[in-house]
Amino acid sequence: MYRDLLNKTVVEIKPSGIRRFFDLANTKKGVLSLGVGEPDFATPWNVCESAIYSIKAKHTHYTANAGLLSLRTELSHYLRKRYDLHYSPNKEMIITVGGSEAIDIALRAIINSGDEVIILEPAYVAYEPAVRLAGGVPVFIELKAENQFKLTKEELLEKITDKTKAIIINFPSNPTGGIMNKEDYEPLIPIIKEHRLIVISDEIYAELNYSSKHCSPAVFPEIRDLVVLISGFSKAFAMTGWRLGYLCANSIFVEQMLKIHQYIIMSAPTAAQYGAIEGLRNGQKYVDEMIVQYKQRRNLLVSRLNEIGLPTHMPEGAFYVFPCIKHTGLTSLEFCERLLEEQNVACVPGSAFGNAGEGYIRISYAYSIDEIKMALAKIEIFMEQFKKAN
Ligand code: PMP
Repeated sequence: MYRDLLNKTVVEIKPSGIRRFFDLANTKKGVLSLGVGEPDFATPWNVCESAIYSIKAKHTHYTANAGLLSLRTELSHYLRKRYDLHYSPNKEMIITVGGSEAIDIALRAIINSGDEVIILEPAYVAYEPAVRLAGGVPVFIELKAENQFKLTKEELLEKITDKTKAIIINFPSNPTGGIMNKEDYEPLIPIIKEHRLIVISDEIYAELNYSSKHCSPAVFPEIRDLVVLISGFSKAFAMTGWRLGYLCANSIFVEQMLKIHQYIIMSAPTAAQYGAIEGLRNGQKYVDEMIVQYKQRRNLLVSRLNEIGLPTHMPEGAFYVFPCIKHTGLTSLEFCERLLEEQNVACVPGSAFGNAGEGYIRISYAYSIDEIKMALAKIEIFMEQFKKAN
């Protein structure tokens, strides 16, 4: 009865399809979940220790709005060393509350009511609501499995209008695990430049690229100042609960984005920032160890799922596989509901990631190899029973 008092855009936003499905899974006991998109690893202990020391040293106050200068400086070195990206710690970076806040402030700073923002589907669930909340109009491009879920020049050109303000891209991708290499970006660069499209590039899975070195669109000098790079510590350093991310862009963009951050957030968590400095300085060996394990899990999942009769392409990044279930004749929601009902295994229906996700399910391998093996055995029984019955 009080709904009419609320903001219409907020009321119209649907709850996340992932959340809805897991609310259902939580009503059951003993569910084996391969659903969650967060690392199963604990944060490297040196990161934790640095945060603890910072509290002992009474660094318990706000930091500069943009984040500790020492963290921004460290981040600037890290981005240069790892990805050949060049951002000034003083004017081109904001330390945010997760990549999530970075996505929000980037969109709010650029969108005028009615501006169109292109989203690539299957898409991370937060993009569409974030665009709508900022007053924008989402326009979807359905990426195709036969292109390994990469964006092509033709697909982009088809959706650009005179209202297009920006495009959100996310490589390595949640949920497909798809990546874009330098050669994949090359044909897109002149189009982005000509139409002055702002590229919100969510690179939160950059460290989790198993086949090549991650390429950011910001390495192309022609569009460097049109790119808003978004990333964070959640995935690479297994720090989801610390709520720390960042945004890098040209100084004109950053100045405006910083205003929103300054008034709404003030500064990202201080202890987390001290931990992150240590992660950037001395954490790469832990990241590398995690990558070895993710890769083993990915290889196991892809080969077993294909054997079981669920065609699964080899994803090159992130920690998700995206098997095709079209041949079962079930929708992705029906498939996941039955798998949950009959075998107590929870995966995410592809439809949670938009229309282009229909016909697929998302399986996360941010789980131990033993859990993955157990779940695979159950998926195999499910598929055998399904084949017999149909
Ligand atoms: N972008 C993508 C693609 C994600 O998968 C996630 C987390 N699931 C985020 C951004 C947000 O991450 P965080 O706020 O923890 O940095």
